[in-house]
Amino acid sequence: MRGLLVGRMQPVHNGHLQVIKSILKEVDEVIIGIGSAQLSHTLKDPFTAGERVMMLTKALSENGIHASKYYIIPIQDVACNSTWVAHVKMLTPPFKYIYSGNPLVQRLFIEAGNKVTEPPLFNRETYSGTEVRRRILLDEDWESLVPKSVVNVIKEIDGISRMKHLSKKEA
Ligand code: ATP
Ligand code: MG
Repeated sequence: MRGLLVGRMQPVHNGHLQVIKSILKEVDEVIIGIGSAQLSHTLKDPFTAGERVMMLTKALSENGIHASKYYIIPIQDVACNSTWVAHVKMLTPPFKYIYSGNPLVQRLFIEAGNKVTEPPLFNRETYSGTEVRRRILLDEDWESLVPKSVVNVIKEIDGISRMKHLSKKEA
């Protein structure tokens, strides 16, 4: 049995990892859809889909989750919400369960006849992409909110300089 989790993962953080672990207690395989895959180089969406695949792959490996347990599928946005579920299904292996805390994602899958489960949130005040990005820009401790391998990827791609550069105002 397979379950699907969709998130932008800008960047991957400890909350994503914990929810993936809890999903894997309920299903044999988890499909992780990287949402808004076309976006990068903005303050809300700083990292490319490829960079996010790298973060996720390394974080799962670091946590002993074998590659046979998951699929990572980048999913671009579509202009039309009413066709989004079909678009997702075109890209992913078949799945029975869908896990999402996002009301729009929940609604679209419910209307398509899928069973939607709201996964538990872990330390939501700090384990959030918004909080990680905020701390990166302000030189606060962000490294404790993400897996070590994600710290390494962000450093390898010079992600901190990228975000600080993007936050500048044009003179
Ligand atoms: P952003 O603040 O950029 O929206 P985010 O932390 O909400 O980032 P997303 O990639 O938008 O991360 O999250 C996608 C999904 O990941 C959510 O709908 C939720 O199911 C799950 N998720 C995110 N944070 C947590 C968390 N702290 N605990 C458990 N699940 C989480
Ligand atoms: Mg979110």
